[in-house]
Amino acid sequence: MKFDLRCKFILSKEVDEKEDISNFLKNFVDEANNGILKRGAADSGAKIVEWNAEGNKIEMRIVSEGNIRSHEGAVRVRKALSAALGKEYKIGIREILLVDYAIVIDVEQKALKKFSIPFAELKIDGSEVEMKISNKGEEFLRENYVDRMINLVREKIKAQYYEGKKEYWELIWKSEEKEPVWHADPSEEMQKLGWIVPGSTKGKWFYRPPAAAIMKAMERIAVEEVVLPLGFKEVIEPMHVSLDTWLRTGHLEGMPGEIYYISEPVTRDEKQWEHFIDLVKITKEVPEEELRKNLKAPKAGVCYAQCPNIYFSFLGKTISESSLPVLVFERTVPSDRYESGGRHGIERVDEFHRVEIVYIGTKEQLLELREKLIERYKHVFNDILELEWRMAQVTPFYMQQAGIAGHEEEMSKGTIDFEAWLPYRGDRSKEWLEFQNISIVGDKYTRAFNIKGQRSQLWSGCSGVGLERWMVAFLSQKGIDPEKWPPGFKKYLSELPSMPEFL
Ligand code: ATP
Ligand code: ZN
Ligand code: MG
Repeated sequence: MKFDLRCKFILSKEVDEKEDISNFLKNFVDEANNGILKRGAADSGAKIVEWNAEGNKIEMRIVSEGNIRSHEGAVRVRKALSAALGKEYKIGIREILLVDYAIVIDVEQKALKKFSIPFAELKIDGSEVEMKISNKGEEFLRENYVDRMINLVREKIKAQYYEGKKEYWELIWKSEEKEPVWHADPSEEMQKLGWIVPGSTKGKWFYRPPAAAIMKAMERIAVEEVVLPLGFKEVIEPMHVSLDTWLRTGHLEGMPGEIYYISEPVTRDEKQWEHFIDLVKITKEVPEEELRKNLKAPKAGVCYAQCPNIYFSFLGKTISESSLPVLVFERTVPSDRYESGGRHGIERVDEFHRVEIVYIGTKEQLLELREKLIERYKHVFNDILELEWRMAQVTPFYMQQAGIAGHEEEMSKGTIDFEAWLPYRGDRSKEWLEFQNISIVGDKYTRAFNIKGQRSQLWSGCSGVGLERWMVAFLSQKGIDPEKWPPGFKKYLSELPSMPEFL
């Protein structure tokens, strides 16, 4: 890596004594080059190689090849220079400006094609990438933007190698084969019967009594057979999630295109809405443009998964040892996702219902809990729903890429997907649907939300029971005629409520 930074220190006022300052600077640079710019460096550190004072500005060129990057050096220089100028001339430093900055980034793999990132120009030549930044303010040097830009370049090159590849998938358990009672698509059948009807907005369903009864039975099974026996306690969370929360969890960089954003009105003052109301009265249409004027930019979105708001509720808390592991679940708030293409029936929708459980505890506690969870889930899928299903260990491709998969520490993190065969889609060799998962994410979220144990290092994880997916898996294999349902499920729902008759 090579760093070559030209920066400008803006002083609180001009230095009068011309001769004097060049001597002062020469001494300062000598001292800095041998002191603060070397401190803690494994190699030669950073070095000021050019400097110049004019008016109320001091310009410097700081180069480095190693672990004190030039921008880090500049921040150190600011502090020392400010002290020295204060002592000598009673002058302070108002700010540092980045004039230009060239960074040659070593990358492990060659870039396969050109790409760009914000705030910089990139020159990409195989495994050498040169990043040029110019004319930026102080936050650029202080706030680690540059390091994050270097990481982003590396990440984008890595991503070019796994584009289009699937996640790593390894079977860990599978049930015996079970003969399905039919091969129909349950969503289609339920729609024909009027049990489900499309909602008034994209990808959302209205569940009439028979369909609602089946989904509620699934919820009761999840809660009574899995969640409560393992000691989880119910919580109720808000439906809106602040964008700040998703900044912490990573959703905002992970799936910004899947979020339903929420806008607050600019005001509830009727005067401000008068024109809008008048337009509605006259046109009997939605005046979209006028509406947009009356809305603020979104600062939140609709729940995507329940866990981020659960973690937010623990923000900054230290949890006593005797309260560990913390076990909670949420089943009130639906999850909304902009699925765009790929919507199908009730199994891939823009609004779905989940029971999500969250566990926070020591690594050992979570590993033990995961075994118990698997045991309870097995009981449900084998003895109550009698499904043909399987479990697989999945690792996102980037983790494999980093050589993390297979490493014991990382495998104790990671996700187990639960999948069921959907006979209506075709062959059991390939037509499986993920209907829930169990994740342990290590300290990712406890760190992001600053959640600490009294003594223990805390890990966390979650398991999301997708009720639409449970329902699709069950109905695809067992049909919609209660007569043919397995006895374990009949205990929860033996007959269906009637439908209104439509003329
Ligand atoms: P996929 O890869 O299928 O999009 P995902 O990785 O987005 O799934 P998760 O975020 O892990 O899914 O969500 C956990 C659970 O939520 C899934 O196992 C499933 O039960 C449910 N789920 C996710 N997306 C949908 C959807 N669009 N419609 C219905 N259920 C869903
Ligand atoms: Zn979750
Ligand atoms: Mg998804």
